[in-house]
Amino acid sequence: MDVFKPAEPILRCLIEAGYQAYIVGGSVRDYLLNTPINDIDIATSAKPEQVMALFPQVIPVGLEHGTVIVRDHHTSFEVTTLREETTYSDRRHPDAVHFVTDVVKDLARRDFTMNAMTLTESKELIDPFDGQSDIINKQIQAVGKANKRFNEDPLRMLRAIRFCSQLGFMIEDQTKCALLANLPLISEVSIERIQVELEKFFKGSYLPEALILPETKKLLSHLPFFNKKTAIIADLINVTLPFHRLIDVFVYLSFTHDDIILTGFYKSYRLSNVQKREGLMLLAALERYQQKESLSLIVYHLPSHLYERFSDLVARSSLDSLDLVMLKQANQALPIHSKQDMALTGNDLIQLFPERKRGEWIGEMLDRLETNVISGKLPNQREYLKEWVTWSYPIEKKSF
Ligand code: ATP
Ligand code: MG
Repeated sequence: MDVFKPAEPILRCLIEAGYQAYIVGGSVRDYLLNTPINDIDIATSAKPEQVMALFPQVIPVGLEHGTVIVRDHHTSFEVTTLREETTYSDRRHPDAVHFVTDVVKDLARRDFTMNAMTLTESKELIDPFDGQSDIINKQIQAVGKANKRFNEDPLRMLRAIRFCSQLGFMIEDQTKCALLANLPLISEVSIERIQVELEKFFKGSYLPEALILPETKKLLSHLPFFNKKTAIIADLINVTLPFHRLIDVFVYLSFTHDDIILTGFYKSYRLSNVQKREGLMLLAALERYQQKESLSLIVYHLPSHLYERFSDLVARSSLDSLDLVMLKQANQALPIHSKQDMALTGNDLIQLFPERKRGEWIGEMLDRLETNVISGKLPNQREYLKEWVTWSYPIEKKSF
């Protein structure tokens, strides 16, 4: 149980202070599945203020849910006070939280049986809803009455299909029936919560299998943007690889569908500016590749941390294959890596054409020089570049 070692000092500290403390959630499930665990979440009978008083490094992230992040040796642990089901009357914000001391009550509020198990400090498993059997049978089963649980928090339906995609599990029959009966409720969930789960869904190792499930297609057709363009959901059947990020899904769909524009997704989802920028750069690179522009130009305009995502997008868009090594080699062979590396500057151009008023022509000329240097048509040497501009733009030429 070495994987849980980093959490031991936190558990011990809580227990020595007289509180209960348990490992809960996804890490217990993944440990039983024998797959690498993500974050270790901890549940405790200590109230958030008491947790905050015990540890030197804390971040009160979700006090409304009773959650405090405890930092220890550069690792973060979500420490949440044991609580009963939080109702979401408006399906967006949790109503008042009711703290409890019975761990089984806390497990009962959790979504699926495989996520409703806990390990004590001595690594004893508490599994009141028989999550272990569901793990063995590879099935996702709601804790309690599925219909009620999806009604309380419709995000759980999306979580169910994201676990299909992540774990390759199927949804148990009654849970699936309840899901199909409650689909429209997903539109009442906040976009921020949807986005977190949707990204995990598209990153899942079993994404192609999950995408062909009828419940997935039906649920997707109730999600923002997909609900307006239901035809694209059928085309997702061609997806054979998981995506790196949610934005890559949107890039792929807008590249492969003429009637879908990337910024349409930007209006429906709350993407960070970084994601939006990356999306636009990836789409521009795909278009360059499709237009058979040189590889040097493509890699020059694309930050190297996006190469792998670009290479995957090329593969899934049936544009040939373009492996990472080729992209890295093309990058290494670039004569310049940014405009600052150019042997001729805007000031040089002003001096070369003293009769011209400053204006857009400077940027345009630099862009053309840059393109010629990157594609190897011109060496990045001052004299060559000077000669080229004076030859290409003779004084008498009035075009700029
Ligand atoms: P991952 O490994 O992807 O983080 P996870 O199961 O840990 O998966 P989280 O979103 O981190 O998922 O949630 C942690 C735990 O909190 C879950 O295992 C589950 O017990 C509970 N949980 C999370 N969201 C809900 C929800 N909407 N309804 C009920 N329980 C939930
Ligand atoms: Mg988790």
